[in-house]
Amino acid sequence: MDYTLPQFLAHAIALEREAAERYHELADMMEAHRNDEVSALFRDMVRYSQLHHDSIVERAANTALPAIGPWEYCWRTPPEAGGDEAFDYTINAYDALRYARENELRAMQYYAGAGQSSTDPEVKRLAAEFAAEETEHVEAIEDWLARTERPAAPWAADPHRGT
Ligand code: ZN
Repeated sequence: MDYTLPQFLAHAIALEREAAERYHELADMMEAHRNDEVSALFRDMVRYSQLHHDSIVERAANTALPAIGPWEYCWRTPPEAGGDEAFDYTINAYDALRYARENELRAMQYYAGAGQSSTDPEVKRLAAEFAAEETEHVEAIEDWLARTERPAAPWAADPHRGT
């Protein structure tokens, strides 16, 4: 899609708003598990998404933004939640992080793709900047994943754990 600047800004605002909401849920979930460290990570992510959202809204202050309908980007529900059910509050830190990473990757790919397909130089510039930001989020989550114990999954043999 060859985004115009208003279209791109409208989508970016929606994307960041959704990320903030999902991270808020994930943070609450980790708090319920008394995993304060991962909860704090997700609270940081809420803050980054909100700051980003606010700065895009500011950037768009003099732009008439189009209404956007449902689109290809929205956070996928974690596999254990199943369908359109609400978040499963039993999700563990490892799966929560993996889930967040997958959605961050999709955000990064979304921005990168939008920048590549747009012919508007300002869209290209902003999209590259936003994609770089998402890449940092992916890396932050991967750092945490590397330090987080993978839960035992008796139904699936894990070659890295031995049985
Ligand atoms: Zn992000």
